[in-house]
Order: sequence, then C-alpha cells, then structure tokens
Amino acid sequence: MISFNRYKDGKKFIVTFSYDDGAVEDKRLIDLFNRYGVKGSFHLNSKKYKNLSGEQLSEIKKIYEGHEISCHTYNHCWPTRVPKTTLVNEVIDDRRKLEDIAEYTVCGMSYPFGDYNEEVISALNECGILYSRTTKNTKKFSLPENFLEWHPTTHHDGAMECAKRFIEKMSSKYNNDPLLYIWGHSFEFKTEEKWQFIEDVIKLLSENKEDIWFATNMEIYDYITALKNLRVAANEKSVYNPSAIPLWIEKDGEVFEIPAGKTVNF
Ligand SMILES: [Zn+2]
Repeated sequence: MISFNRYKDGKKFIVTFSYDDGAVEDKRLIDLFNRYGVKGSFHLNSKKYKNLSGEQLSEIKKIYEGHEISCHTYNHCWPTRVPKTTLVNEVIDDRRKLEDIAEYTVCGMSYPFGDYNEEVISALNECGILYSRTTKNTKKFSLPENFLEWHPTTHHDGAMECAKRFIEKMSSKYNNDPLLYIWGHSFEFKTEEKWQFIEDVIKLLSENKEDIWFATNMEIYDYITALKNLRVAANEKSVYNPSAIPLWIEKDGEVFEIPAGKTVNF
C-alpha cells in the first residue's frame, strides 16, 4: 500500500515559522534561524518600503535571503472591512512591491489582524494568492485542509509546550500528524528573556533535525500540492511525478523517492 506520509528527503515531520509585519527585529530572528538551520516565512506590508532607494531595497532582500517573503497587504488593512476593490489593490500592490524586492513570485499571505471570511478568500484566489495563514491556534499538528485558511499550531508564546509535545509524538508509531506551525511578530521579543525563550525553542527543534524538514510556508504548499498531483497506477506498480520537485512516498513500509518528472516502477 502507498502512503503519502513522507516529506522532503523522506522525513516524516515538518516545522515552519511565520512572522508578520516586517519589524526591524526580523533581522535578529533570522540570524537565529540561520544559526540553527530553521526556516521562516515573513509576511510584509510593503508600504513601508515605498520611499526606499534601490540600494536600500536590496538590503531588505538580503535580510530575508533563504527565507520566504510573503504578503500581508500593502497598508495592513482589515480585509473584511474594506471594499473588495480596495482589498484587491491592497494584495496586488503588496505583491508587486514585494516581487520587485524579492525578485521571485510572491504568492503567500497571512491575514492582517487574522481577519477574513469567505468573500476575502475568494478575492485572494482572484489575486493569485495560494495560501494564507490565520491567527487561530489549533494546538494540533495537522496539515491544512484549505491552504487559504491555514490555521497555525500556536503563537510563539505557546511554542515550548507544543514543541515538546510534537517531539514526544514523533516517536509514536501511530502518529500521522506531521506539522508544527509557529507564528508571531518579532517585535514581541521585547526582553532578552523572550529572545532566550525563542532560541531555546529553535534549539530544541534543531536537535531533532534528522527527522524534521524545516521549510517555509510556500515550500510546504508546493510539496503537498505536488504530492496530491502524483499519478499512482491503479495496480500501485508505478508512480509518475509530473511536478518539478522530487517527492517521497512510503510503499509497504519502505521509503521511495520519486524524482521530478520521472516514473518509478516497483
Ligand atoms: Zn500584522
């Protein structure tokens, strides 16, 4: 039997971090992420970059290098409290400016104020947004059912308790919940104690990196979407991966890599 329970490099678990508002403290947080090899997505309001020179913009790009730059609307608007056309402009203007900075397509988002409804989701769809994070802490480790309504596990205040529980569950044979998703704002680290707290969380998780894929939000979206698009033969004797990224699956308890664009016969 084939199971879709393996992620990058055949790992069974994923951890992602997600930070909003593009605070100056992002730089210190990213230094921490880089020291321990973890990854984050940074949801930015690009209005604050509108008067920056080309040189200053490339500085911004450099700060976020190796992590994901993602939308958070141009002005940090309330998505359900503005006209739909305003919301569309807020998202598209943010995308355009961030894409100028990042020099790649920016299709991720998090909801400012955690504010959204069905209409907002449909507007985001039209704007080419592929995932958007809410602020509803599930305290669970499941993958999202709808990427445009992506509920995180926990705000970073609850991250140590969740990280410990996540690591404990990793050794359970019957555990199929793969994702720990931590979010917050780097400006909330107001004291050295708070910086130490988040470093302790990151360090604890990085000690388990043999089994954890540290990914940006978009890397998770891309992987799960590609996994869902794998073409599995009805007789389960072959699997074709039409995507541009390698994927891993389990067949009868054994792990297989399905290279990008290739068919694997069993
Ligand atoms: Zn925000």
